[in-house]
Amino acid sequence: MRFLTVRYEGQQRVAIEAESDPHQLGFLPPAFSSLLDVIDAGDEVPAPVEWAVFDDVQLLAPIPCPRRNILCVGMNYCEHSIEFSQSGFDTSATTTSQPEFPIIFSKFGSSVVGPGETIDLLPHVTSQVDYEAELAVLIGKQGRDIPVDKAMDFVWGYTVINDVTARDRQKRHRQWLLGKTLDGFCPMGPRAVTRDEVDLSDTRLTCYVNDELRQEANTRELIFSVPEIISVISEGFTLQPGDLIATGTPAGVGIGYDPPRFLKPGDCVRIEISNVGTLENTFK
Ligand code: MG
Repeated sequence: MRFLTVRYEGQQRVAIEAESDPHQLGFLPPAFSSLLDVIDAGDEVPAPVEWAVFDDVQLLAPIPCPRRNILCVGMNYCEHSIEFSQSGFDTSATTTSQPEFPIIFSKFGSSVVGPGETIDLLPHVTSQVDYEAELAVLIGKQGRDIPVDKAMDFVWGYTVINDVTARDRQKRHRQWLLGKTLDGFCPMGPRAVTRDEVDLSDTRLTCYVNDELRQEANTRELIFSVPEIISVISEGFTLQPGDLIATGTPAGVGIGYDPPRFLKPGDCVRIEISNVGTLENTFK
């Protein structure tokens, strides 16, 4: 199933895309105003009670206000791991560019914005804003110390995230939070799809800046798989329904170029992930 969080007639609503026609949206009852309500309902998601056409809604991030920080995996595609290590922006760089254990950081939920929103480059705090196309996992149920072979049972579904990063702040502060969690630096969407819609062994991910292809990868190339990531993060830490995990970005980010290609006012970043969706945002 494919869900959208939208504003319709002044209200935030959750809608299901009709399988026969994605322009037809079926709204869940108003009590289900957030995708978090849908995730919490498990198998008890009600049928749509009202229909509208796509053009009549404003798209929002699938989860505009996450309950907690968004968890993120760093350096989880081999070629990106090398480009980041060699860029001079990785203050923890070692002689081995591929991490031995998953690198986990987070972005505050306050950084989330929706598809189509214009994102401020915040030139008073950074001059080196970069893009990172990523598949994000939505956790469906509570769990701790989750074994790898059970981890997919805890996945509700997926969405698209751009892990926008201020590289100068990431480098200068020797810790990633300040560069990762600026206002607007977590565009998300446009839709969330349930787990059955995505084949992690063969899902294509691409990122374009102003229609120029910059990143291209397949989720089968992840260094640490989704089950491995969930297992590691949940060691002694309880994952909750609605938690988001951004799984990492492939090679081709701005600092992978020499000289680096940072985002400029007017740039449009478009991320496409097969069977999940296309997330597009312009920067100002
Ligand atoms: Mg990232």
